[in-house]
Amino acid sequence: MFKKILIANRGEIACRVIKSARKMGISTVAIYSDADRQALHVEMADEAVHIGPPPANQSYIVIDKVMEAIRSTGAQAVHPGYGFLSENSKFAEALAAEGVAFVGPPVGAIEAMGDKITSKKVAIEAGVSTVPGYMGLIDDADEAVKISNEIGYPVMIKASAGGGGKGMRIAWNDDEAREGFQSSKNEAASSFGDDRIFIEKFITQPRHIEIQVLCDSHGNGVYLNERECSIQRRNQKVVEEAPSPFLDAATRKAMGEQAVALAKAVDYCSAGTVEFIVDGDRNFYFLEMNTRLQVEHPITELITGVDLVEQMIRVAAGEKLSFTQDDVQLNGWAIENRLYAEDPYRGFLPSIGRLSRYRPPEEVAAGPLLDNGKWQDEARAGEMAVRNDTGVYEGGEISMYYDPMIAKLCTWAPTRDEAIEHMRVALDSFEIEGIGHNLPFLAAVMDHPIFMAGDMTTAFIEEQYPDGFEGVELPEPALRRIAAACSAMHRVAEIRRTRVSGRMDNHERKVGVDWVVTLQGQRYETVIAADHDGATVRFGDGGEMRVTSDWTPGDPLARLSVDGAPLVLKVGKISGGFRIRNRGADLTVHVRTPRQAELAELMPEKVAPDTSRMLLCPMPGLITKVNVAVGDEVQEGQALCAVEAMKMENILRAEKKGTVSKINANPGDSLAVDDVIMEFE
Ligand code: ADP
Ligand code: ADP
Ligand code: MG
Repeated sequence: MFKKILIANRGEIACRVIKSARKMGISTVAIYSDADRQALHVEMADEAVHIGPPPANQSYIVIDKVMEAIRSTGAQAVHPGYGFLSENSKFAEALAAEGVAFVGPPVGAIEAMGDKITSKKVAIEAGVSTVPGYMGLIDDADEAVKISNEIGYPVMIKASAGGGGKGMRIAWNDDEAREGFQSSKNEAASSFGDDRIFIEKFITQPRHIEIQVLCDSHGNGVYLNERECSIQRRNQKVVEEAPSPFLDAATRKAMGEQAVALAKAVDYCSAGTVEFIVDGDRNFYFLEMNTRLQVEHPITELITGVDLVEQMIRVAAGEKLSFTQDDVQLNGWAIENRLYAEDPYRGFLPSIGRLSRYRPPEEVAAGPLLDNGKWQDEARAGEMAVRNDTGVYEGGEISMYYDPMIAKLCTWAPTRDEAIEHMRVALDSFEIEGIGHNLPFLAAVMDHPIFMAGDMTTAFIEEQYPDGFEGVELPEPALRRIAAACSAMHRVAEIRRTRVSGRMDNHERKVGVDWVVTLQGQRYETVIAADHDGATVRFGDGGEMRVTSDWTPGDPLARLSVDGAPLVLKVGKISGGFRIRNRGADLTVHVRTPRQAELAELMPEKVAPDTSRMLLCPMPGLITKVNVAVGDEVQEGQALCAVEAMKMENILRAEKKGTVSKINANPGDSLAVDDVIMEFE
């Protein structure tokens, strides 16, 4: 076995690899850019080598710099993680030339699978079912239209070199085919430096289901079941689960066997993923093979008990697989939610900045993958697991240079419903402040009836959130539970307040028992009977709820039990009540005495300042272009200016018709969130 390995990556995946290496007694070398001096992966590794400035193309993906780090530390093997150099055959060749082991497949497999056209041809030869389409290269838009008609609309226009959801367009008619061909070609040229395009049938009602394979260098290969990744935004995965709620045993076996056949056809050795698209009738078609560790690999580990990183290292060291297909388990259900620094309320624009608060839920019984391979909570092993793969820490910076993923939160339980329920509680408990993030959106997905029924397709987000995400309205039973909790919490806060103000005498008597709670337009009259263990909250309409918790005023997180079921609330203080966040909702909760409530009803509602006549900067960034001038009349949807953040240019558009009355920012200005860029009449 290797004594030392270098991890040619950063962030959560570098941390993940270090954990398994450490468990195996292998010492680890991290590499880092200027932006990552303080990063978690650097702290976790035994050694760390600085390799250059923040942009990845000047540090993490410069093969020479990584090779130099290997030489200077004497690492015998390299794990590339995902992204960066993981599917770069030149890197694998450079390692081979110096006798350093690549913890990944052979060069030939990377090359064959790295190109979508080539891999599709290999797949057909290996007897794998592929999407019907045209396999040749397409020269111009006219030819694209002709071929699209032969295949039959809708079609998918794809870049052969594509990846990460880029260089891909759906077309439903000739015009879209013409347009899609051009934009795919342009995007492919700029993103991959390779503009070869092909066209295949667009599979309707598509579900993305992929097979994890694992092969050794002795000709053995197994599949470790599937992951369903249909919840995607712009072809990028957001929520994944294993197994898939859609597959039956026969389809699973057929897909698994084809995936292994494909791997064997390219002499695959290592962990890899064969992606399929599955239609409403459970016909499945090969999409591509990712010749690396996949982002969403933890859910496979949770249902099979296999440590994929450990297996990758073992086969890279020449070991034989220690188990066969018959040994592969499919135990329970696992779900992964990707927490992104993307603001769902602002069209999922990337957000950067300091994590002023970062408190993930505690990991529970996450199997061999916690530090030192221990089950953190042995008592709950077999009942549930919470696993959080991350590369950030409180006080750390989410920088503009890399992927905006903050963490991968996974839960496991014997059944899908239980795994979802644990995920809801874990999301409620996850505290992230300082940057925009998609936690509320993930919470909304976990509560969505289509997701709960397991009926999603890859169009789920687009179809269910066509106008973006505006938070959720909670159903009445959930509001009632929160009202009971807030009534009890308010009483605790009032007791504290009277004590602090020095009125120690009979304070219990001074704090009333009648409270009117209003939230999300609902009004609940409550009467509290408190005792040593908690409070019983009686509602005006007769119902009753038992609330217990160890919350004290000032805690930003309240873990309560309401009628025996857990309720976790993020709590902020506002005048006369709380700001409560729970299950994707952001609520203003008022708790008043009956008299205050009566008066409040007579008060005119406070109107929020009208920002509809302003263009606010949605994220910290650099203004690169202003397209309009004072006095211009703009139409709905018209481009107003461009803001650059996280290497992406974001075009800000007019929400409605209007006339520009003032412009406060010029190209070159750096703006903060909510800075007013321009105003309208
Ligand atoms: P997965 O199916 O594991 O999510 P993706 O293909 O979507 O895999 O990408 C995995 C990671 O690699 C992401 O961080 C993505 O941003 C990055 N990535 C994928 N393809 C490319 C590419 N061609 N160039 C740069 N980064 C890429
Ligand atoms: P990438 O390399 O960017 O990951 P993929 O070929 O894996 O590209 O496709 C990414 C996503 O696009 C898939 O997960 C699926 O949702 C969708 N997709 C790709 N091809 C098709 C198709 N022929 N029909 C329907 N959806 C498709
Ligand atoms: Mg893919």
